Amino acid sequence: MSGKKSSGIYVIDSSFNIVSFNEPMKEKYPLIRKNEKCFKALMNGEEPCSFCPVDNNVKGPRMYTDPVRHVKETIDAIDLPLADGRMGYALVFNNVLDELNMEHVSYSKRRKILVCESSEDNREVLRGLLSDEYDILEAADEEEALRLLNTHYRGLSLVLLDLGLPEGGSYRMMNRIKDDVMLQPVPIIVTTEATDTSEEEKCLQLGAVDFLLKPIHPVIAKQRIKNIITVRESTSFLSVSEIDELTGLYTREAFFRYAQRLIDTSPDAEFDMFIVDIEAFRNVNEKYGEQVGDQVLKALADFIRKKTLDGICARLNSDLFAVIRQANAADDKGKAQEMMLEFAEQAPVPNLVLKNGIYENIDKTLPVSQMCDRAMLALKSIKHKHSRQVALYDGPASQELQRSQGYESIFRNAIEQKEFEVHYQPKYEPYTGEIVGAEALVRWTHDGKVMYPGDFLPVFETNGMISNLDEYVFREVCEFQRKRREAGNEPVPISVNISRESMFDNDVPQRYRKIAEENGVSPADVPIEITESAAVGGVEIKPIADAFNEAGFSLHIDDFGSGRSSLNDLNVLSIDVVKLDRSLISCIGEKRGSLLLAHTIALGRALGLKLIAEGVEDEEQLNFLKENGCDYIQGYYYSRPLPEAEFEKKVSKTR
Ligand code: C2E
Ligand code: MG
Ligand code: MG
Repeated sequence: MSGKKSSGIYVIDSSFNIVSFNEPMKEKYPLIRKNEKCFKALMNGEEPCSFCPVDNNVKGPRMYTDPVRHVKETIDAIDLPLADGRMGYALVFNNVLDELNMEHVSYSKRRKILVCESSEDNREVLRGLLSDEYDILEAADEEEALRLLNTHYRGLSLVLLDLGLPEGGSYRMMNRIKDDVMLQPVPIIVTTEATDTSEEEKCLQLGAVDFLLKPIHPVIAKQRIKNIITVRESTSFLSVSEIDELTGLYTREAFFRYAQRLIDTSPDAEFDMFIVDIEAFRNVNEKYGEQVGDQVLKALADFIRKKTLDGICARLNSDLFAVIRQANAADDKGKAQEMMLEFAEQAPVPNLVLKNGIYENIDKTLPVSQMCDRAMLALKSIKHKHSRQVALYDGPASQELQRSQGYESIFRNAIEQKEFEVHYQPKYEPYTGEIVGAEALVRWTHDGKVMYPGDFLPVFETNGMISNLDEYVFREVCEFQRKRREAGNEPVPISVNISRESMFDNDVPQRYRKIAEENGVSPADVPIEITESAAVGGVEIKPIADAFNEAGFSLHIDDFGSGRSSLNDLNVLSIDVVKLDRSLISCIGEKRGSLLLAHTIALGRALGLKLIAEGVEDEEQLNFLKENGCDYIQGYYYSRPLPEAEFEKKVSKTR
């Protein structure tokens, strides 16, 4: 809130322990600490202060002289339930000099107050008292009050409710506000001629925060209204409970609570759950800094809020947002797609990719967390699939994926425990028998069992973990190269496989380059292998291939000949090396197969490419390849993939 002055506010539980406080409070009392007794932290006292409004059970602002800072202040205590449901109080401090200049308080916007009051005279008093500072909506009876509530429910800061509306209308109003998720945060002050405690209790249970006795005392009423609105709006106290500090959206817990309430109070309505994620958000932070990252999150939160005025939205964690809204017969998926693109166009940074998982027509018997999980599953099914931005939850297919999600925690643990090990298969120059390079191949030892890429890569490719694994392997290889150099060994290029899914992660070439640089490794010494299937339709991956080239990496096409591409198809990509797939090599000896291979090698050489034969197992194959001018050989004939130390031994022997 802007203004010439700001109230210091802190929140305590009923035992005077400080739960939270705002910035102005910290400025006034730099020693304030959470979880300490307030009288100890602020006044260095051993018991509640003599002027404490909570201890003395007084309501309304009262003046006192701060014994430590010797300034006159007013202090007000407002009942405030804490996030965990316990009773608490917000204490609001204002400097008396500021109080005297109340008309100078400049709110950033005028607040709106709904006055529900049956007596014309009282309405006039309140209007006279408040209209210079607030926009006042007036209702004389329940019907009019409900009409105003329904039209203005989002912008209300306070409801002043006469307890004497005809036929119990005041209680119905309180019930209506209590049951509406959007209205619950709006504080209600009940105005009444006289209260007996049972009535007061009933009002408090229905969500009223305070009582003003009629005839209304203008100064006290005005100050209390202001304090209550200030407390409600103070993000410093809301942040501990419901509102995400950065974006102003609900937190995960608040979202679960309010979404449930929304569902419970609309038994006839159908709802859709949306989860929105920014793909590779960490790259935004890395590339532009955290401040810009925050701007992106705020902009996205504002965008989502504007687009879902009829629903509830939240930031679940870092870059993950959730929305629940009434189901719309119109094409949700198409609309979501448009919105994702619309945001990307106006976002603070270019090339943002948003992903949206939708769980349509939710099963209302599930807990909200599980509804989110379902939307999340839909989202995960398209993570790293660059061509798809929106996915719907579809029961069985998503459940299949859910099984593979089980791998996710195992995977993270495996990385931490270093269960993944990189082996190195040497590549040979067949004419001299010298080792000219190697390929990094990952192995996973889990529960004492060694697993090969074929066992786990397909799962990691569907659940999005593959890019983490690829980066891990790349880093390991760079570290190995650094160790080799530090030991005085001659550099040998070691190629690293990258899956199609990881390639489309934001900025992979730059990120990999950075990792290489951190290890003092030239990108030329860690070529990248992409598979033929990824390269088919080469136009699509051309920008990424170019970016790898620009970053200094050399590109190898892996498994060439296993699909249906020809070298000509690959001509659009700037490739240096073609790896002939084992299926081609195993055809050596068969007439047609041998002919095809001989021609492929000839064409490759004519295009200026280097050729590596993969999966060479015997002498016949080796001789054929040598005769036809294949540049390099990789296969069991020379060597299996080896653990680091064995590989190192072998290289030093042949060189
Ligand atoms: P690839 O890149 O084509 O790797 C060659 C595969 O052929 C390796 O299998 C290797 O052990 C095997 N191989 C080599 N010589 C012979 C031979 O003479 N005979 C036979 N029968 N096989 C031979 P591996 O290690 O099981 O890897 C399988 C595939 O998994 C690799 O195929 C590669 O596409 C992928 N892969 C391995 N590590 C990674 C990684 O870190 N990231 C990604 N994205 N993929 C990886
Ligand atoms: Mg490979
Ligand atoms: Mg291969």
